[in-house]
Amino acid sequence: MKKVILVTGASSGIGEATAIELAKAGHILVLDARRIERLKKLADRIETEGGLARAYPLDVTSRDQFKSVVASIVEEFGRLDVLVNNAGLMPLSPLNALKVDEWERMIDVNVKGVLYGIESVLPLMEKQHSGQVINLASIAAHYVFPTASVYCATKHAVRAISDGLRLETDTIRVTSISPGVVQSELANTTTDPDSKEWLEKFRSISLTPDAIARAVLYSIDQPNDVDVNEIIVRPTGSVH
Ligand code: NDP
Repeated sequence: MKKVILVTGASSGIGEATAIELAKAGHILVLDARRIERLKKLADRIETEGGLARAYPLDVTSRDQFKSVVASIVEEFGRLDVLVNNAGLMPLSPLNALKVDEWERMIDVNVKGVLYGIESVLPLMEKQHSGQVINLASIAAHYVFPTASVYCATKHAVRAISDGLRLETDTIRVTSISPGVVQSELANTTTDPDSKEWLEKFRSISLTPDAIARAVLYSIDQPNDVDVNEIIVRPTGSVH
């Protein structure tokens, strides 16, 4: 069955690859991020290849914007089947660098953004008696790395929120996907020079984003009575 799927952070990396993979499988895509020009290009590409896609600007730290995007989806398609909470950032630094603005930004986007997404879709999915929330966690949701305390904290939170939501609903499917290192723009948000250097080595063995896109598709395309709760995908040979 064709599903209506909202992907946040669809302007690059995992979100972009996920949108392409899901559209190829016949699903209807609603693409969101702040860089609307990139989203429009992606929507055009999907439609040229025979798919159906819409692009909306969305900053996930805005509850109002999130709700308004969901309202537009319901107005056009009458339903929303899947939310992929993918938007995120990872500015790494040791705690004693005191990059408090970056800590706050990660908490705002990686944690509050996920919660605002849930706030925006939960009443609707409960009314539909169906739906799926897919949250992009990370291997940083399973382990803690030096320079990544706050990032790991946000991703541990995403995993906890996913599991909590799963336990509180018997109609909505909840999936937490934990990628290992994936090539994307994620490392670009790190400003601390030492952490940048460490990160380059850490990211030397990596997956391409389509590997995660296929995991997202797998979780969506299971029958409705199958709830894929957790997936970890690492590059072969990764020791992290
Ligand atoms: P990218 O940096 O390539 O993509 C991040 C996306 O998030 C962009 O599309 C960006 O769009 C969007 N974004 C950032 N801030 C906001 C915001 N305030 N509102 C809306 N969108 C926002 O990184 P990845 O594709 O790698 O990251 C995707 C997810 O996967 C993240 O949650 C990340 O933590 C997770 N992950 C990534 C791993 C990796 O190694 N790459 C490993 C494990 C997990 P725009 O700037 O246009 O708003």
